[in-house]
Parts: sequence; structure tokens; C-alpha cells
Amino acid sequence: MTFAELHAELQKLKAQGLLRERRILESAQGAHVRVDGRDYLAFCSNDYLGLASHPALIDATCRGAAQYGVGAGASHLIVGHSEAHHKLEGALAQFLGLPKALLFSTGYMANLGIVSALAARNDVVLADKLNHASLNDAALLCRAQFLRYTHLDLKQLERALAAARGRRKLVVTDAVFSMDGDIAPVPELLALCERYDAWLILDDAHGFGVLGEAGRGVLEHFGLSDPRIIYMATLGKAAGVFGAFVAGAEPLIEALIQRARTYIYTTAFPPLLATALLASLHLFSEEGWRRGRLRELIAYFKTHLGTARWRLLPSDTPIQPLVVGDNETAVRLAEALRARGILVPAIRPPTVPKGQARLRISLSAAHSKEDVRRLCEALKDIERTL
Ligand code: PMP
Repeated sequence: MTFAELHAELQKLKAQGLLRERRILESAQGAHVRVDGRDYLAFCSNDYLGLASHPALIDATCRGAAQYGVGAGASHLIVGHSEAHHKLEGALAQFLGLPKALLFSTGYMANLGIVSALAARNDVVLADKLNHASLNDAALLCRAQFLRYTHLDLKQLERALAAARGRRKLVVTDAVFSMDGDIAPVPELLALCERYDAWLILDDAHGFGVLGEAGRGVLEHFGLSDPRIIYMATLGKAAGVFGAFVAGAEPLIEALIQRARTYIYTTAFPPLLATALLASLHLFSEEGWRRGRLRELIAYFKTHLGTARWRLLPSDTPIQPLVVGDNETAVRLAEALRARGILVPAIRPPTVPKGQARLRISLSAAHSKEDVRRLCEALKDIERTL
């Protein structure tokens, strides 16, 4: 693109109300944040358990820095794989009851690495249309045939699997859909993958730490485990820190170490984050009340919201999307909330389908009932006046 074309595109985005802008966060993440010099009640982050600024994680980070310094200094395969990373991989595998885990620097990189290590030209990647962008980019990068099925349409998926008989197949899905909050029908997906001999990649970025009694995510939620499942989750959401991992059968993990380019050709994330994450895993069980509180807040929000004009999508996860339709209304609604001291992001295309702009309300164990009540009241008040 030329400079003039870039400029024209920016002008067009601005005119359409689609220009994305960044805010400056001046505090730690939490229920109450300071943004651009003002205090807000916030429903924006993926810090679902309220661990991002937990004192135990801050302590563990400082201990990690004292022991390992601040930079990993190299990729995992050179000399960046510290004892802290290694312990964390062991702890994650043990926590999930899976044979092995492998850390990646981000969820985006994990998805690129896994998919392109397992699929290539002539293979088929079958993906839910509402999957996260990183899974789509991964499918494009690996040059396999990329087929996207309508959200949760298992009949369509089955037809595509049947048509791809004899070829290597990878079914990829968000376990909890990041903009809708609904949970993928994993048992049914697994049954299809068994019938048609396909891998099943589950991206549990939004379920890990949240779903299941112990926070083991979507596998615990459905009581499932199967060697054809490739389980991936991020560590910058409920775990409160940064990074991602994949867990599964031992040969799979060994093969990813040899083949996943986003694992091999990048600096390992700082070991101090691994020490923080070990503390965070400890809190998943030590402070299990956080999941209980979160569930109560989700139920409270759903029963108290009561707006007639906008549609709350059916979701039992902390992601509560209020669909308003057009981009302008979504932005006006977010601005009206902001004027009342409440931050909620307006999500517009291309992140969500056209005509389905929404507020993505995310709840956290860091919130109180009073915080959620304030949000519900503000939305009702805006509905009366907007
Ligand atoms: N998968 C899903 C479903 C996500 O929502 C996200 C992050 N928004 C990612 C992957 C990427 O994870 P990370 O932020 O660690 O790159």
C-alpha cells in the first residue's frame, strides 16, 4: 500500500466510525481503573479471576526477577528455557491431567505454531466462523484448504469432514467464543473428529481457569479427555499474567518443539512471568472462591439487566455481549456509559459480523455485586434517554 492509500483508508475508517483508538491505562488492571486521568468502573478486561494485580503474583514476579533477571535472553531451544518455564510446563500438565504441556509466548503465536506444524498444503483445516482471528491466520499461514463452517453448525462440519475423507484434517474451534461467550459443543465435535479421523484443536483462552469446578477449563466442564484433542489456552486472561501453552499427548508436544516455528524462532517469555504463573496456578485452587464469586455475578447480571431494546446473547461465561446492531449505536452506548464513569468496549466489525456491533461486557471476580448493579442501572437509564 502506498502512503496515500494508507491515509485514505484511515480517513474512511474514521468516517465510518470504525477507527480503533487506544486508551492510556494508568493503574493496575482491576474492577476500578484509571484511564486518561479519570477513574472508572471497568468491564473490559479478560482478567476474569481478578488475579492480574494480586499481591501473591506481584511477590512471585519480584522473586522471579531476583532469581532469573528480567529477560530470557534467548529462545527456548538455545538457552532461554529456564527452570521456571520447565516447572510451569510440568505444573500445567499436572493441573490439567494431561501428559505434557509446552509454553508459547502468546496465544496468537501458539495458534500459528500448532496449526502450521500439523497442517500443510493438501490438508484441510475446518474452522467455526466465529473463531478467534489467530486461528484463522494460522489456517491461512499453513496453506491447507481452509473451510469455515457456520457457527456451531455440526451438520455442515460433518459434510465437510465426509468430503475430505482420505486427507489429513484439523478441526479448530474456540472453546468459549471470545465475542459471544458461548461454549462450543466439544463432546459432539470430538465424536465427529473420531468418526472422520481428525485432530481437534481447542482454544480455551476464555475457559481456562474459569470453567469447571477446579478451573481446568472446557475439558473439566465436559468431563473429557482424548489423545486427539490438542488443548491450547492463554495465560494472560484468567491466569492474570501473559503467555500461552498447548497440552496433549507426549509425541505431539515433542513434535511441536521440533516443528512449531513460532516456538523455535522467538525469545522465550521472561522467566519471572513463569514464577508469577506458578503462583497463579496455586491460587486457582487456593482461592477457588473466585470462580464461585464470578458465577454469582454472572447470574446476578443476567437477572438484573433487563433491557428490552438491546439483546443480551445467551452466555453463562463472564463474556456477556449486549448486541445493539449498528456501529454508531454501539459507540454512543459505550460513550454514554463512559460519561457515567463506566468503561465497556464497543466491539464492531470486522471483529464481529456486520450489523452485530455490541458491548462486550466482561465480568470478573474482582467486581462486587454493587459494581454489577451500577452497570445494570446505568444501562437501564441510558435505554430510557438515548
Ligand atoms: N485465542 C482466543 C480465543 C483469544 O481470545 C485470544 C486473545 N484475545 C487469543 C487466542 C490470543 O491470545 P494472546 O492474547 O495470548 O495472544
